[in-house]
Amino acid sequence: MKALVKPKPEPGLELIDQPIPSPGPSEILVKIHASAICGSDIKIKRWDPVMQNLIRTLPVIPGHECAGEVIEVGNNVSKVKTGDRVAAETHIPCGKCNQCLRGRLHTCDNMQLFGHTIDGCFADYALFPESATWKLPVELSYDLGCLLEPMGIPYRAVERAKIYNEPVVVLGCGPIGQFAIAFSHLQTAKPLIAVDTNPLRLNIAKQMGADFCLNPHDVQVTESIRDITSSSRNVAVIIEASGNVKAFQELLPTLRAGGKAMVLGQSKDNLLLSVSPDIVLRELELVGFYGRLLWDTWEKTQDILQTGLIDVTPVITNRYRLADFNKAFQEAEMGNGCKVLFVSD
Ligand SMILES: [Zn+2]
Ligand SMILES: [Zn+2]
Repeated sequence: MKALVKPKPEPGLELIDQPIPSPGPSEILVKIHASAICGSDIKIKRWDPVMQNLIRTLPVIPGHECAGEVIEVGNNVSKVKTGDRVAAETHIPCGKCNQCLRGRLHTCDNMQLFGHTIDGCFADYALFPESATWKLPVELSYDLGCLLEPMGIPYRAVERAKIYNEPVVVLGCGPIGQFAIAFSHLQTAKPLIAVDTNPLRLNIAKQMGADFCLNPHDVQVTESIRDITSSSRNVAVIIEASGNVKAFQELLPTLRAGGKAMVLGQSKDNLLLSVSPDIVLRELELVGFYGRLLWDTWEKTQDILQTGLIDVTPVITNRYRLADFNKAFQEAEMGNGCKVLFVSD
């Protein structure tokens, strides 16, 4: 089979031929029909220091957002059978540590990461651990099935924010930001304000339900937000999906007392908050999100897609074959489009 690998501890990826793997007792062999490039795949390609720390064994096949068909199952597998459609959860819990025993499988202390610490999905076939396999309904396309994983994190942020007819700002309109906009719209955010420097992404944000799309190249963002929300501090929820801590920091003063900042974008930069007045006197809530609740988040996001409550297809802007991985990664890195997929027949 063809597999895209990270062969050596240096920048780059390589497309190679290697044998189709056989499933161990608790593994599932899956023919990958759709997979998506995530920001972390770009970091693996660049060999970013974050990935150098995380990935200890090379070569490894990156890619973790995917959907496909079950070809073969190991002897102990009972969750799915040959022919079923499945998607993969990236966070593979040990099931035994303190976090797992408290039901926080997504922050397991001994977590393996599909497409990072074990081989992922940028290949014709992949092995899914049974514990990280989600069965998809027949009606859901593989393209949408592979988006359930990245949708889960913004879904949790919006769910936790308990938005009800109040001003919401989504900072960053990459795929995660777009899903956050779609879910916030569904939760009656009003007005719903999207912020990004990329006009194409702002156009998609409009389709996802944003009422106002602000481009920092054209307008002064905090002033515009104050005009839109008729107050200097009236934003109920900020969803940070840009990884741009400076831009996030600038937005924080627009939050009303009791406001919530939901942080999805990853960055090593520090955020400055005073204990008082910011946190105590204004009762700000700052929550980070990492991963999906197993399997609560998957059930809910799938249900929303299946019932057609949101349509996220405009977020998929490019589809490539694995052989064209250079072009696909270039597209994803330049951010000209939004979600870049690999598809196969
Ligand atoms: Zn991802
Ligand atoms: Zn664990």
